Amino acid sequence: MYVVCREHLELAIDEFVDEYEMPPDVHLLSDITFTEWTAPPQCHFCSNPPVYLVV
Ligand SMILES: [Zn+2]
Repeated sequence: MYVVCREHLELAIDEFVDEYEMPPDVHLLSDITFTEWTAPPQCHFCSNPPVYLVV
């Protein structure tokens, strides 16, 4: 699972496909609410605020 900014969405998808050999589901973080999970404050790859959840 990756939480990434707009810039790193493609990178996260590439890594996901490498690791799991299947395409991920991409969700907008703003569309999702979790009761027991809070999105990290930063992108997985940089210090920007994350926009997408790649799972
Ligand atoms: Zn990033």
